Amino acid sequence: MRYRSTRGKSTNLSFEEAVFEGLATDGGLYIPHHVPTVPLSEILSWADLPFPKLAAKIFRKFIAEQEIPDKDLEDILTRSFATFSTPEVTPLTKLPNVRPELGNHNFDNLYVLELFRGPTFAFKDVALQVLGNLFEYFLARRNRGSVEQYGITVLGATSGDTGGAAIYGLRGKKNVNVFILHPKGRISPVQEQQMTSVLDENVHNVAVEGTFDDCQDIVKTLFGDEPFRRRFHLAAINSINWARILAQTTYYFYSYFTLLKRIGAPSGATSYAALTKVQYSVPTGNFGDILAGYYAVRMGLPIERLIVATNENDILHRFFQTGRYEKKKAGSGDEEVRQTLSPAMDILVSSNFERLIWYLSRGDGRHTGADAETEEKAQVASATIAQWMSDLKAKGGFSVPEDVLARAKEVFSSFCTSDAQTTDAIQRYYHHQFSLPYEPTPSHAGADSGCPAYVLDPHTAVGVVAAENFIQNGGSATAYTICLSTASPGKFPEAVLKAINENVPNTSLQRGFKAVSYADIAPRQLVELEGLPKRCVDISTDGGKKELGLEGVRNTIEEKVGAGFPAVAAAKI
Ligand SMILES: *Cc1c(COP(=O)(O)O)cnc(C)c1O
Repeated sequence: MRYRSTRGKSTNLSFEEAVFEGLATDGGLYIPHHVPTVPLSEILSWADLPFPKLAAKIFRKFIAEQEIPDKDLEDILTRSFATFSTPEVTPLTKLPNVRPELGNHNFDNLYVLELFRGPTFAFKDVALQVLGNLFEYFLARRNRGSVEQYGITVLGATSGDTGGAAIYGLRGKKNVNVFILHPKGRISPVQEQQMTSVLDENVHNVAVEGTFDDCQDIVKTLFGDEPFRRRFHLAAINSINWARILAQTTYYFYSYFTLLKRIGAPSGATSYAALTKVQYSVPTGNFGDILAGYYAVRMGLPIERLIVATNENDILHRFFQTGRYEKKKAGSGDEEVRQTLSPAMDILVSSNFERLIWYLSRGDGRHTGADAETEEKAQVASATIAQWMSDLKAKGGFSVPEDVLARAKEVFSSFCTSDAQTTDAIQRYYHHQFSLPYEPTPSHAGADSGCPAYVLDPHTAVGVVAAENFIQNGGSATAYTICLSTASPGKFPEAVLKAINENVPNTSLQRGFKAVSYADIAPRQLVELEGLPKRCVDISTDGGKKELGLEGVRNTIEEKVGAGFPAVAAAKI
């Protein structure tokens, strides 16, 4: 399999090249030359595979065997997922039906897919554990038999989850140095403790006095400084990295198979029509998580619908409503990122969306468009994308033709969840237990009738509200809805505890509800972070002098990495 940029200037890259480069030099994102469709019989033959072996089947479709042989691929993936706290890696839990009064049975079939069982308790671990091992594997291969050791310097800015997951994915990896910038004092205490308590020598936390955007600007400037970038082999780990998308595709397949077993559906279906179908609701920011679902659709997994769940930063929801992708208008008083209860989804534009619209503009929707996979069509799609992206930059937005939007709607629906709805959902799913009858009734005692209560993190709640609305408004063509749960509630305790402990319903008070504490909702490892030793470089900007921030970060990298690395080319496949 080869890779090309969505903007057309670079094509024919190997998987390794696409992974190391991250962003294409023409500003585009890497996509595979074609999306393999997998025959139904083959998909169903994967149903009983453990998570890492299933991941290997999926990766194999996108990576040539000459590039990573089967044995190595399985080894990389097995090690990547061994850091998760359960062998299922991403377990599926049935939610209670908190809306029995509606009499809609689809509320009986609402599940959460827990993607937060990795080392940092957020879904980004799934991808970044894999990415760290891939970097290490490719570097070891380049360096084999050579005295000079080639290495990379991973540089990124974080407002929370990405930095932590990157650090845990890259800690201790040979020939990899990682520098993660965060705005000093402006990320949540849990996230700060999680990052700065990693003491591996190759991990460097840098706290910059300023905002997240200041950190982002420093990163951009250093990536744009060609000599600096070459000297240190700067590498990015942001959500546009192709390997991250690929890794995330696995849990769509895995959860589908888990669901079939859970509901006792026959797994021997021989036609697509006879299969149980499912829909997914995905809390979305940079469109990485849900794009992985789109690849699963294209490969042939029976997904009826993907629900794009946004918070009040709703550029994606507005697109699906109108066909216009537009930052908020300057002067509307709303052109800044809004701070919400689900901060990992607070974005102005959504970086991975470019990949989806490349396919849509080529003529693909649920399936590959007619004659779509010709070089000529690919070129036309790339030219269109380059134009749209330039309009986004210059004019703040672009509109797509009606047929493009119609193809998007073959697969996607969207919903925008407010902070008030987020809080309400957290409260409802927790307090539901106090409205249950004292004695278990048959409907609550049956197999897999759902847990009596569930603590949602605010991001997950955004997805659950979107799913509820979709079900309630009759949008479901299938009974089964899986909501992706992207973080442990223990990572965002303020919003969760407030939702549960304030405005407590009378029924809960009467039944002896006691206020819930951080230790009740957080995994032990998070609670214990506080006492651990920490290491972090502080960069002062003397009250906001941006040049000082840039100089400070540059000096820190020079000091820690020294002369830089010799250049060694990627293996030619
Ligand atoms: C990153 C993140 C998201 C958004 O994922 P995208 O792939 O950017 O859409 C949602 N929830 C949490 C907790 C995250 O960390």
